[in-house]
Amino acid sequence: MQTKMLIGGSLQQGQGESFTVYDPATGTEIARIPEASPGQVAAAVAAADAAFPAWARSAPKDRATVLLQIADRVDAHAEELARLESRNCGKPYLAALNDEMPAIADVFRFFAGAARCLNGSATAEYLPGHTSMIRRDPVGVVASIAPWNYPLMMAAWKMAPALAAGNCLVLKPSEITPLTALRFFEIIADLLPAGVINIVFGRGATVGDPLVNAPQVRMISLTGSIATGQKMLEVASRTLKRTHLELGGKAPVVIFDDADIQAAVEGIRTFGFYNAGQDCTAACRIYVQDKAYENFVADLTSAVSTIKSGSQDEDGVEMGPLVSQAHQQRVAAFVERCRAEKHLEITTGGHAGDAGYFFQPTVVANAGQNDEIVRREVFGPVVSVSRFSDTDQAIAFANDSDYGLASSVWTADIGRAMRVSAELQYGCTWVNTHFMLCSEMPHGGMKQSGYGKDMSMYGLEDYTAIRHIMIKH
Ligand code: NAD
Repeated sequence: MQTKMLIGGSLQQGQGESFTVYDPATGTEIARIPEASPGQVAAAVAAADAAFPAWARSAPKDRATVLLQIADRVDAHAEELARLESRNCGKPYLAALNDEMPAIADVFRFFAGAARCLNGSATAEYLPGHTSMIRRDPVGVVASIAPWNYPLMMAAWKMAPALAAGNCLVLKPSEITPLTALRFFEIIADLLPAGVINIVFGRGATVGDPLVNAPQVRMISLTGSIATGQKMLEVASRTLKRTHLELGGKAPVVIFDDADIQAAVEGIRTFGFYNAGQDCTAACRIYVQDKAYENFVADLTSAVSTIKSGSQDEDGVEMGPLVSQAHQQRVAAFVERCRAEKHLEITTGGHAGDAGYFFQPTVVANAGQNDEIVRREVFGPVVSVSRFSDTDQAIAFANDSDYGLASSVWTADIGRAMRVSAELQYGCTWVNTHFMLCSEMPHGGMKQSGYGKDMSMYGLEDYTAIRHIMIKH
């Protein structure tokens, strides 16, 4: 198993303390990997800094060529990477292979094209005798900090736009799920000049902290929890580093009486429980209009009770375990607190599995706006269902949240869909669906879900600095 880090073009074993990586489906050890030492973190940053001037000056078409080659390597190694991802995260192998790997290759291909379309606006004489133009130039060394839910895909979302724009980077994958990123860097190492991409393995406190604090790091790009986002802002405030923060979510799903209720039930069965609900856009905070409510809860309960949970390669498996024992205990504690509330009704699920870090797909009905299950991110296979009576109340409930990442509205009335989507304070609102992403469209939050966009031309722009050049004639 590849456990070496890529630093300045060479593969190196970590020199720090060892950290164990587990298979969440069984709870057994997969690997013990030594973390990067402080010296190795510093070397990775120095290598990125040294590589930056030449990479920043490379022609967009040359960077595009490299990104296309990276995409081809993803395709060529898709089965191996999907196998590793599913083992380390516990997710169904076929989901990793058929959903994640093509999306990872596609994001590199999208940014290969985008690299050649990046342009500044406005070349004109705004002062007589002077011509102004706008350039978009790379920021410098980016510290890319990734989470554990889609380890390689989140790394790709960070790498592709940063490289396309001409930045160099040091990636730190989550200490819980480093295996695909470590292998991926080995697979693509020969495609890039030494130092353009570097990877360091380790925990946030021991490896992430010195990385983001390194003086040569100009930008911190984090996908993670709000608490870690707040820490990144403290670090950034000392030297005014740029930040790009993709944080948690608690997506509201607003279902009106006139919606296609079966489609909504099927949608939540899929989009509320995909990746065992460990998804920042998961359809987890459901609001249903009065008339449809009772039938909806009954239908959702029976639909969710048929979700097949199991280990990576089981026939027909739809949902795997949670990523770690600590996370399983956290999710179980949320549900226990629901059980203690008399008005809440757990209509299906509610228990941990016997082996591994499984948790049953769970529906909590009759939830009130102030219940913890409605207000806090569980990041597991647990959805809440609440009632609403009219459009204004639905919008008020949906917006009454610290989070602002994703939302959806389900209705047959296109006018209502337009009004509600205009008034929802979320980075994305889907109508009559949920969770669908594409490389051309931005993904990112509002409020405490953070700011900065992944994917799309906006994602590329986030990794550039706008510069004004003025020429006196
Ligand atoms: P986390 O914040 O615990 O960890 C994220 C990363 O930050 C890890 O690599 C971790 O090691 C690192 N980190 C932690 N402390 C650090 C420090 N002091 N310095 C530098 N790095 C540090 O989050 P997680 O548990 O891995 O992921 C789950 C969270 O991520 C959820 O809240 C989820 O909603 C969010 N998420 C958001 C999106 C999005 O696009 N908005 C996507 C996926 C996950």
